[in-house]
Amino acid sequence: MATDHKPEWSDPNHPDKCSSVVRKGLEHDDQSASIQKNVRFQKRRTLEPTVDDLYDGVLKGDRSLLARAITLVESNAEHHFQKAQQLLQKLLPKSGNAIRIGITGVPGAGKSTFIETFGMYLCSLGHRVAVLAIDPSSSLSGGSILGDKTRMEQLSRNPRAFIRPSPTAGKLGGVHRKTREAMLICEAAGFDVILIETVGVGQSEVIIRDMVDFFMLLVLTGAGDELQGMKKGIIELADAILVHKADGANKQAAEQTRKEYNRILHFLHPATKGWATKAYTCSSLTKEGISDVWNVIQSFEENGKKSGVLDERRKTQAKEWLYAMITDQLQFYFFHNNGVKNTLPTIEKEVIAGEKTVATAVDTLFTIFLG
Ligand code: GDP
Repeated sequence: MATDHKPEWSDPNHPDKCSSVVRKGLEHDDQSASIQKNVRFQKRRTLEPTVDDLYDGVLKGDRSLLARAITLVESNAEHHFQKAQQLLQKLLPKSGNAIRIGITGVPGAGKSTFIETFGMYLCSLGHRVAVLAIDPSSSLSGGSILGDKTRMEQLSRNPRAFIRPSPTAGKLGGVHRKTREAMLICEAAGFDVILIETVGVGQSEVIIRDMVDFFMLLVLTGAGDELQGMKKGIIELADAILVHKADGANKQAAEQTRKEYNRILHFLHPATKGWATKAYTCSSLTKEGISDVWNVIQSFEENGKKSGVLDERRKTQAKEWLYAMITDQLQFYFFHNNGVKNTLPTIEKEVIAGEKTVATAVDTLFTIFLG
């Protein structure tokens, strides 16, 4: 048998300076190596789990079936919709037992680093943490904010955590519905803390606010500058403002910013009845202030449960979700109606040309839609 040798690009005068070796492959006779004819590659059929398989798997906390259950609710295929709804219907009574936390902030505010540190801390306390995301850009680009490889490296390896990148939009309701349903599935699987992340660019904060118990905003130092660009509305949605990256040379400035926010918060409407939204400082690098964030959330939960505000919030959210889904469905059926599809381009031209009023156009379309 031939021996291993040094690669040809190594220096022949100093072979010991090159650690690579080219290993000789196994020799065999041509007979045994002959390629079998008429054998075609066949795609292996993977058996789709039934609703019952998924239900049992989720309740047992089987991660692979949990992931498949979420994939099912995220599917844009119409035939998956019914199956997903059957599964959710079964899982619904088992859900609702987690504290749902929304996290937002501009890109670079340190959201993923915070979730990594905060999530690891919660896991060390014995909690089970599911991280979901709403990506406001995904409906346009099909992208995914939690999709990038290097984020939350430790947390993604922690057996007590489950991280799910944001779904892409599609028909039959969008990202909003899918994230909500993924959250219910994670709760049924026994995750008791749900973290939902979004990039703070406007619309998505309102969507998240409508599905979580506690909502926090990550900001950086320099409240004055930031507040000018940031809509007051977003601050009014928050139950806590975290002045992040309060470490090293930035610590003092962060403290100053915290005070400024507290001054502003004093004049704003609180997001939750009976709860005073305050600003705090923390650092995901030094971990300073991280346990305080959890203490604040726990005290929020305790207060909210006692006063009934949390229960009330969840009821309101369920009601709003119902109406949001009705609107989604109506839109879907309206724009997929053949009559509407055929007539809309002409009517659109007529409206643009000023030949038809918008009200008449809508009236015509609805007459077609309603048959
Ligand atoms: P995201 O876009 O909001 O998810 O922000 P990232 O988590 O990707 O963080 C953006 C940058 O801020 C990265 O370079 C992080 O290393 C850095 N960063 C995150 N958290 C902290 C922190 O607590 N302290 C400091 N000094 N830097 C941080």
